[in-house]
Amino acid sequence: MAKLSPILKEVLAHLFKKPATRRYPEEKPYVPVGFRGRQIFDINLCISCGLCARDCPAKAIEMVEVDGKLRPLFHLDRCILCYQCAESCPRNVIKSSEIFELASTNKSDLVVKPKANNASIGSL
Ligand code: SF4
Ligand code: SF4
Repeated sequence: MAKLSPILKEVLAHLFKKPATRRYPEEKPYVPVGFRGRQIFDINLCISCGLCARDCPAKAIEMVEVDGKLRPLFHLDRCILCYQCAESCPRNVIKSSEIFELASTNKSDLVVKPKANNASIGSL
């Protein structure tokens, strides 16, 4: 009986193995606890101190005026999702989310403006 070549053996073995990749986007990936996705925050808790903007290593936060008070605006095209902003915030206002689908061909889509009387950062 003819012997199978090692490569053919490998190919046949992989035919019956579970795929190593997922069929994204049809199949949604598992997002682990503590995942650092897009920031969300409660604007009503913000005290306009600006520490988040000061400490952001990527200069991704701009303090902008909303109803006469300075609030953080996030430039996600610069953000490296390090979450130093959350560490620096004395009011624990900034939280991570499971939102990770941030790709866009339009830079303005990645500007996340703080919204007045809204419990969270506006959607992209
Ligand atoms: S996660 Fe890091 S890079 Fe992004 S806004 Fe916060 S401090 Fe800046
Ligand atoms: S550090 Fe916190 S309280 Fe200070 S401006 Fe940023 S979000 Fe507001």
